[in-house]
Amino acid sequence: MRVFNFSAGPSMLPLSVLEQAKAELTDFRGSGMSVMEISHRSDLYLEVAQCSELRLRKLLEIPDHYQILFLQGGATAQFAAVPLNLVEAQGRVAYVDTGIWSSKAIEEARRFTGEVIVAASSASTGYTRLPVEEEWKDFDGAGYLHYTSNETIGGLEFQSVPESAGIPLVCDMSSNLLSRPLDVSKFGLIYAGAQKNIGPSGITVVILREDLLKASASRAPRVLDYALQAQNGSMLNTPPTYPWYLLNLVLEWLEAQGGVHAMERENLRKSELLYRVIDQSSLFDNPMAQGSRSRMNIPFRIREASLTSMFLDEAREQGLVNLEGHRSVGGFRASLYNAMPFEGVELLASFLCDFDVRHG
Ligand code: PMP
Repeated sequence: MRVFNFSAGPSMLPLSVLEQAKAELTDFRGSGMSVMEISHRSDLYLEVAQCSELRLRKLLEIPDHYQILFLQGGATAQFAAVPLNLVEAQGRVAYVDTGIWSSKAIEEARRFTGEVIVAASSASTGYTRLPVEEEWKDFDGAGYLHYTSNETIGGLEFQSVPESAGIPLVCDMSSNLLSRPLDVSKFGLIYAGAQKNIGPSGITVVILREDLLKASASRAPRVLDYALQAQNGSMLNTPPTYPWYLLNLVLEWLEAQGGVHAMERENLRKSELLYRVIDQSSLFDNPMAQGSRSRMNIPFRIREASLTSMFLDEAREQGLVNLEGHRSVGGFRASLYNAMPFEGVELLASFLCDFDVRHG
């Protein structure tokens, strides 16, 4: 039986994608081989790679002067690759601090740059809201401004693109890329680990403006060198062929669903329903400020901590799984990525109401 999997990532994949992968597992397009068994340089595989790039370009309306790379090492490798490719060892960079993931990006940038300016931080509020305008510091002379568009653990999401005063904007979109429309032209570089909205783990999408590529005097290891990877079609070495193939199937599914506009409508519908139920309950609460709340990851707490395991056990019996909060914060968290159907959220919402009536 398939369950509704609320994991923050790796997370739910569309059932039709898994079924197609299963159907062609041992014989990919009449080759008599699995897609896992063929060369990444074969025409059959190059078609997968090219299709995925075209699909992503179309879905996000990525302008021609942006390159798309498919790399390994997850978003964590990008925490290092970004400074190593974009600035010199003594360079100055700016970061927005909105929670655990941006803090990790900052920590890594400190190892590879001369100075990290924290341009804005919401640490003083316990990361329960986005930084407000008055809290922004000057970040003149920074090589780029980095932010995390959706904090997967805290459940905080930017609702608009911050102003970067002409400085290239770099964004970690690991947990909300493809969940809503996006104006790529506002960014110098976007990166995202795939294992939330885009596919399985093992592959990372990087979208970068060509002038940054040309200007980059990379200090990065060859596998993380953007210019080298771009010259080699993301195949400087053997790419993660199976995750890439699955990513292509997810993009195909997304097109059939109506693309990012349709995803945004559904994601709004799902998240609004769950926030409404949490806000109305006497037992559960979500600490995030209105206007900063994530559509993708909804953390919530229970007033009576002793009911935690009963809640999780009863949820599991109904096929609602992986609702535990991140190990660093506890409580609960429901991740509502693109592949989570509305019915899953409806079932969770009615379970929350019912649990609230019984124990609230
Ligand atoms: N950034 C964000 C916003 C994330 O959610 C994650 C993973 N959950 C990461 C970075 C790290 O990604 P990876 O595990 O792919 O390195």
